[in-house]
Amino acid sequence: MQRQGGRQGGRQGGRLGGGGGGPRWGNGPGRGGDGSGPRWGGDARGFEQRPQRPRRPPPDRTPQPLPPLELLFATGNAKKLAELRELAEPTGLTIRDGTDLPEVVEDGATFVENARKKAVAAVLQTGLSALADDSGLLVDALDGAPGVLSARYGGPPTGDRAADDARNIEKLLDALEETPDDARGAHFACALVLAGPLADGPGALHSDEGVPYRAFFSRSFGRILRERDGEGGFGYDPVFLSDDLGCTFASASAAEKHSVSHRGRAFAALLPALTALRARDEAPSAPLFLRPLGLEALVHALAETIGGGLRYAVRGLESALSERPGLGAKERAAVAALHIHALRRLGVLQLAAGALLGEALQTPDPRRLRPRDAGVLAVLTLADVDEKGHRLPHRGPGERSALTGLLERHTNLIGHLPAPASKIDKALRTATHALDQLPGDDGAAIAAGAHPELYAALVEAFGAASASRVLDYLAEQGPPTLRLTRDADADEVLREISRLGARTVRLPEPPGAVALLSTARITVTEAFHRGDFEMQDAGSQQICTMAAVQPGMRVADWCAGAGGKTLALADALQGEGEVVALDVHDGRLREAQRRVGRAGVQDLVRIERHADDAEADARLGDFDVVLVDAPCSSTGALRRTPELRWHTDAAWLQRFPEQQRAIALRAAARVRPGGRLVYATCSLMPAENEAVAHALAEELGWKLVAEQRIGPSNPEWLAHGPLAQIGPDGFYSAALERPHG
Ligand code: IMP
Repeated sequence: MQRQGGRQGGRQGGRLGGGGGGPRWGNGPGRGGDGSGPRWGGDARGFEQRPQRPRRPPPDRTPQPLPPLELLFATGNAKKLAELRELAEPTGLTIRDGTDLPEVVEDGATFVENARKKAVAAVLQTGLSALADDSGLLVDALDGAPGVLSARYGGPPTGDRAADDARNIEKLLDALEETPDDARGAHFACALVLAGPLADGPGALHSDEGVPYRAFFSRSFGRILRERDGEGGFGYDPVFLSDDLGCTFASASAAEKHSVSHRGRAFAALLPALTALRARDEAPSAPLFLRPLGLEALVHALAETIGGGLRYAVRGLESALSERPGLGAKERAAVAALHIHALRRLGVLQLAAGALLGEALQTPDPRRLRPRDAGVLAVLTLADVDEKGHRLPHRGPGERSALTGLLERHTNLIGHLPAPASKIDKALRTATHALDQLPGDDGAAIAAGAHPELYAALVEAFGAASASRVLDYLAEQGPPTLRLTRDADADEVLREISRLGARTVRLPEPPGAVALLSTARITVTEAFHRGDFEMQDAGSQQICTMAAVQPGMRVADWCAGAGGKTLALADALQGEGEVVALDVHDGRLREAQRRVGRAGVQDLVRIERHADDAEADARLGDFDVVLVDAPCSSTGALRRTPELRWHTDAAWLQRFPEQQRAIALRAAARVRPGGRLVYATCSLMPAENEAVAHALAEELGWKLVAEQRIGPSNPEWLAHGPLAQIGPDGFYSAALERPHG
């Protein structure tokens, strides 16, 4: 692209449009950030760098409680209605009786499909947001039967539910008569679907009628007895022996059943989403606050990011902001948001820049951009979003962009643009249409914001629909997430944070995970100084629970990084035992040491640099648990490092599996007989996940006892329309057990 405007005025020169100095469309790469500027996501993310004691207590800005919410429950089953009301009672959610709604034919192939039909029908009938569920029993020995046919297993429903239940149970017991005790495994599944206006927003699914919805799905495992036991519950409860409870659902109290049941768990997943959706509706996003100085900062940030080989985006932003003390908090936030937006959309922006200059159409490759392109890219970024920072569709002329607004407020900028505003808009429309003309899947990849080889790898792993979904999910800003420490008083911590004006929501798993729905300076809370919480993504917390650490154990955090997992493992020791945290990067180890000191767990944690040769590992001794969060392509964490979208090509993806295997084998040598190796990554790719873990189990002759795909790594979870606003990064983890003796 041609150079626009040059660098008149130099770094410290006149402000863009500020009278006198011309615009500085292209800043070259400069020195790195000094760390004093804000980081992604505002204060909550940056707190680790700047712990500070409060000088005076912050003013109380506790948000008003969310208004009561009434949801229609579309079910004909009065017992389910009663169960859901019991579940909802403590949450302030009112469940409205939908038993009068017309019956819907439940002929879907899945629970989600049936629940969606019921919920959508209720929305279309009433115009309200509605909930519906579908549930059933899946028996291993019957290949998942009765499944979606559970209610009708023994024959068409007669209207007498007690009689129908008895008939269903009878048929089930007959079908399993010859099945031995150790082969009677079964599980209940439940899909809850929220449909209607409340479910709308990024990531929502849509029915054929265009009604937005989201699904929440859960299971509860157990086995089928040979005879009934207990009088409570309904349906198959009397013959379902719950693994979690050790008794049948029919002999458990309602509260006990809810705490582990498929419906209870699906409801637990629904609740935080409801809170987040309502909080979003309550606080419509404010317009971006941007002046010419902010635009200049954006140009600078992009120039540094590009100049740094698209590798150090945070540093590029920090440097741009720290050099402009005249930017206020709102404008800094706007620049940060636009910078992230630009990095995600870099392929389309590059295409548009090419269109502006009349270049021949070819698949864009943002790695070939030069710092001097930053001016054009910054202006295109402003034309790519509306005044609240949301992406525009570029369907036709007349869309009001952030650029339009800025030019109206600062008319002296007009003469400094790299092209007339109408041409800039047109270039984005041309680029949007040109996506279809790129070869193969390149257009889909660029539209989704990914290097074509990353996109191809995702399509191969999960299929085209999931590939786009995962990239969309990872284009949303994730929540700053807290891990409440074991001894913290959760209610007190959340009360303190809410006094700062921030809403929080407790996540269904793992216990102690709390998402912040708005940024807040949580470092000023007493709770932070008491060590009541740490910042850690919910997915990373989940990996630590797979380590199953017990008090008194010796635990190794083999690739400890900056120590987030080390602290979680130390917390699980409850004051007794040892965590040895190892890494090869001195900077990260120093950061881990600092956090360990701050958390006050120095007595439990030893931080060490990995020896260069594996022979020296023996001096570490043996461990009950070794957690290896292996170096990986980091594709599960793309929302934190959007610039990686353009680096992740086939060569990058192929780099890791062999290294992962080697590191994990070295770590495995330190697991005591009977101990556990947890292998984890923040990658989405099966080649770095299952392929490595399964090969390790085979090579070592150890048993793979559990494995999980967390968050967007799990295509089933993604297909249900999760809210990125409260969801984790993508992770994989597997637990392998070393045989005794
Ligand atoms: P539906 O969800 O109303 O289509 O029916 C599901 C059927 O699965 C019920 O009629 C029950 O037979 C069975 N079922 C679902 N959830 C439970 C439960 O919590 N306990 C026992 N049976 C259940």
